[in-house]
Amino acid sequence: MLILMQKGATEPQIHAVCQRIRELGFAPHEIPGSIRVAIGITGNQGPVSPEAFQNLSGVAECVPVSKPYKLVSKEVKPEPTVLDIRGAKIGHGHFSLIAGPCSVESRDQVFRTAEVVACSGAKFLRGGAYKPRTSPYAFQGLKEEGLRLLDEVKRKFDLRIVTEVKDTESLPAVAEVADVLQIGARNMQNFSLLEAAGRQRRPVLLKRGISATLQELFMAAEYLLSLGNYQVMFCERGIRTFETMTRNTFDLSAIAMIKHHTHLPVVADPSHGVGIDWAVAPMARAAVVAGADAVMIETHPDPSKALSDGQQSLTFEEFRRLSAELFELADWISRKR
Ligand code: PEP
Ligand code: MN
Repeated sequence: MLILMQKGATEPQIHAVCQRIRELGFAPHEIPGSIRVAIGITGNQGPVSPEAFQNLSGVAECVPVSKPYKLVSKEVKPEPTVLDIRGAKIGHGHFSLIAGPCSVESRDQVFRTAEVVACSGAKFLRGGAYKPRTSPYAFQGLKEEGLRLLDEVKRKFDLRIVTEVKDTESLPAVAEVADVLQIGARNMQNFSLLEAAGRQRRPVLLKRGISATLQELFMAAEYLLSLGNYQVMFCERGIRTFETMTRNTFDLSAIAMIKHHTHLPVVADPSHGVGIDWAVAPMARAAVVAGADAVMIETHPDPSKALSDGQQSLTFEEFRRLSAELFELADWISRKR
């Protein structure tokens, strides 16, 4: 159920509606709009009767929400959400570039990469300090040391940091350094982690699970929003299909679907989407034109020596060329940087 307030409804009227929702044992979610405030209700098991609200002063309309995901849906909030991450905007009308190595490997590696990323015009540096790996024998990340390096690099180059949070235990330490918490594909349905990330107030980049449907992705985001963290962006990073020539099948259609059904920004990750260096650029270009609010690219000083995802990481030269092209495309479709 969504309660639409009248245009010009006062703070006390909004407060009274939220209070009534709480009295019924549900949770109110105030959603400011350009014309009027809407209040979403969560925590109800079945339909909520509109009679409880219809006669409260300032209420214009009670609208049932048909989708299982509510707070992420356009039904509840038709206006697109724009995230402001220390002055860098992600969402409707803007284009952002997020780039960096798969993993933080050393001081030299992360500083050299950050310099190239900052010079390209990107405002976000990505890099994992905690790496969830398929094999227990593979490089698991520098952990606390990786976070320290990210913190240093963030100050030096004025970049916003996107880094993965692998579990609830490391969440407080990661959230100290990260401007955006990445929840990886393997953790998309780690409900304890989603709940913990929902209770804190850092923006979250939620990656689509390896075999997740879009509805499952939306429901995972719903955990974050229902706990009060509305700063969420989706990330399409490819899904597992019968195809084996690419690492994953990069689902370009997901970008259009996410934008059609939800108000949250979408980030395209063609690096994991295809998993092959030479195929990253064409898919990145396609993602910008398809409407992605941001593109995330892996780059490394020497991809052949990378401790993770070298096969899909661009050399600095390739990255410089691609970033210039992506900004040019974004300008062409009138996106602000
Ligand atoms: C990553 O971004 O390096 C990563 C591990 O991504 P994913 O969770 O999409 O596999
Ligand atoms: Mn990676």
